[in-house]
Amino acid sequence: MNKNVETFIGCDSEYSESGIAIFGAPFDSTTSFRPGARFGSSAIRHESFGIETYSPYQDKDLTDRKVFDCGDLELCFGSSEAALADIEEQTRKILSDGKMPLMIGGEHLVTYGAVKAVFEKYPDMHIIHFDAHADLRDDYLGAKLSHACVMRRCFDLVGDGKIHQFCIRSGDREEFRFAAEHTDMHKFSFDGLSELVSELESNKTPVYFTIDLDCLDPSVFCGTGTPEAGGVDYPQLLSAILKVSRTNIVGADINELAPMLDASGASTAVACKVLRELILSIEK
Ligand code: MN
Ligand code: MN
Repeated sequence: MNKNVETFIGCDSEYSESGIAIFGAPFDSTTSFRPGARFGSSAIRHESFGIETYSPYQDKDLTDRKVFDCGDLELCFGSSEAALADIEEQTRKILSDGKMPLMIGGEHLVTYGAVKAVFEKYPDMHIIHFDAHADLRDDYLGAKLSHACVMRRCFDLVGDGKIHQFCIRSGDREEFRFAAEHTDMHKFSFDGLSELVSELESNKTPVYFTIDLDCLDPSVFCGTGTPEAGGVDYPQLLSAILKVSRTNIVGADINELAPMLDASGASTAVACKVLRELILSIEK
């Protein structure tokens, strides 16, 4: 008899033998519009049994890989500071054990906790950020810790020219002005990604890779708190992920699935397939 322990499909290796450690960060307390991302990680794990472990895109199979899934953190919903501290601590532990942290959100603010720990180990790190939204507000309704500010907080750590943003099609004028001066922003699409990857690859630059799933068009992925028309489709996202996987990725996350906002379940299935391809591409 075995215990019923649910992991992402095919990711049931022991911690000691795994190169990647998956964990969930079920937090959505700063969501600005429609909440529900706190259920993202558990839905992805549960619904992953609806997809195959094999990827015909990459001719790789999750069952041939050594990936550990430690489940969801138990995070404080009433305090962003406390939740981020727990995420940072978990990420630091995984990194100090020589493994790659792969976090499933949760809203996008959770990325800041992981980035803090990764930055501590890799102070020359860059961030590749896929999103519909710039996430560069200095504060949102007075709160510095908000999913609308997450890349601005990351900027406060890593500094000028190290955040590379793609698919961005929403933000206020000030965010776009800030981006023009301080980040490498590519609006609307993945144009420019190949050139960036070549440069980061040749310098072996440590990269943190964060995918806000709302970069996808709402016709592909509507189960998210702030859907934004004009996004990329799944093949475009997959192709972009495979490009980024050529860089020296030292940490990654996917975030902003709010499963209950898509009663069809299709958005969760999309997120599962994104995660499968991400794992198979970054696991070396
Ligand atoms: Mn975001
Ligand atoms: Mn977004």
